[in-house]
Amino acid sequence: MKIRAQIGMVLNLDKCIGCHTCSVTCKNVWTSRPGMEYAWFNNVESKPGIGYPKEWENQDKWNGGWTRLADGSIVPRQGGKWKLLMRIFANPNLPQIDDYYEPFTFDYDHLQSAPESKAAPTARPRSLITGQRMEKIEWGPNWEEILGGEFAKRSADVNFEQVQKDMYGQFENTFMMYLPRLCEHCLNPACVASCPSGSIYKREEDGIVLIDQDKCRGWRMCVSGCPYKKIYYNWQTGKAEKCIFCYPRIEAGQPTVCSETCVGRIRYLGVLLYDADRIQEAASVERDRDLYEAQLGIFLDPNDPEVIRQAKLDGIADNWLEAARNSPVYKMAVDWKVALPLHPEYRTLPMVWYVPPLSPITSAANAGHVGVNGEIPDVSQLRIPVQYLANMLTAGDTGPVVRALERMLAMRAYQRGLHVDKVQNMAVL
Ligand code: SF4
Ligand code: SF4
Repeated sequence: MKIRAQIGMVLNLDKCIGCHTCSVTCKNVWTSRPGMEYAWFNNVESKPGIGYPKEWENQDKWNGGWTRLADGSIVPRQGGKWKLLMRIFANPNLPQIDDYYEPFTFDYDHLQSAPESKAAPTARPRSLITGQRMEKIEWGPNWEEILGGEFAKRSADVNFEQVQKDMYGQFENTFMMYLPRLCEHCLNPACVASCPSGSIYKREEDGIVLIDQDKCRGWRMCVSGCPYKKIYYNWQTGKAEKCIFCYPRIEAGQPTVCSETCVGRIRYLGVLLYDADRIQEAASVERDRDLYEAQLGIFLDPNDPEVIRQAKLDGIADNWLEAARNSPVYKMAVDWKVALPLHPEYRTLPMVWYVPPLSPITSAANAGHVGVNGEIPDVSQLRIPVQYLANMLTAGDTGPVVRALERMLAMRAYQRGLHVDKVQNMAVL
């Protein structure tokens, strides 16, 4: 057993209000530079929807992540060094600028400087790439904002066509949710495996995945190799860039910018301890559906004295062990199992976890299906279909999603009960 520490994040999707504050503050700090105008280390998508870049979940199109061979081993779909010669001249799996969007700003000056006219002046869009005025904006990073079912039929989410077909055009049956996304700082990163220059590395001390800018040669194999499409090519420097998990802030004991500025307070940071010797075993289990459980199986109990002893021998610092003991990520992802990984079937062992959303639950609550009066919660009555969430979070296995939702519903009912008791006691007093 070789114990390593990993910093991770849990996002409670039930609380995300889709305000994009996280994306904007991240952009202001990390990507407000020439060459990175189109890049959003953190973005927030409306789901169902095809996302940013378009159809990022369609690995048949992009060939990202790992694939399992007949002998049980796994290889990055985007190839390693041996495929380099084939790819040098044209990487067919690279998203183009239209798959992201043409970045733009608005001519705000015109609002002040326009000559007098009958109509109010308009701030027209202008391309940040060409500097030219744009007649219209074709696409943006969250073009599908709040469109719910109207765009659902175009969703890249697999195995859900019938439900999408059924709900199309039926407003009362549509659903939507927000999905904030950032680099997953995977335990088994496909970006590292696909880089021919060896420029991408995972930090020993905290698992943050970084790109050595001096070593990067701009091959962009990582851009296509990352199944989450969370590496961006800086066209000004000719190098690849990605989310750095705000490591200068983490080293100073501060949260990431997206966590600190999150309006919904949906983000939790924490440390996980895991057995690094079991990564390959977990990432190469045969069935996609078993990947979530396999991933869970490599984490260690930070309160187990034997784990602590071994972790110290493996060089884990005392303050990281303390952080692991108090980790909300361990509690929610491993202990309570209410937070689930995003697309574990990509086999990268992602380290950003999501509490599935319950909302909107009003109609289910009115029908008495959500446990508000102490009855058993009935997750089948929730508006977002469980199978949809399972396709996103557990490779289609509804069991762990139902378990997480039931626990969240039970907790909600419990907290409401406490509140009601408190109010009643106050009334008595
Ligand atoms: Fe690499 Fe991040 Fe993509 Fe994982 S999500 S493969 S760590 S860029
Ligand atoms: Fe959601 Fe928080 Fe981002 Fe707002 S800041 S979109 S609540 S994750």
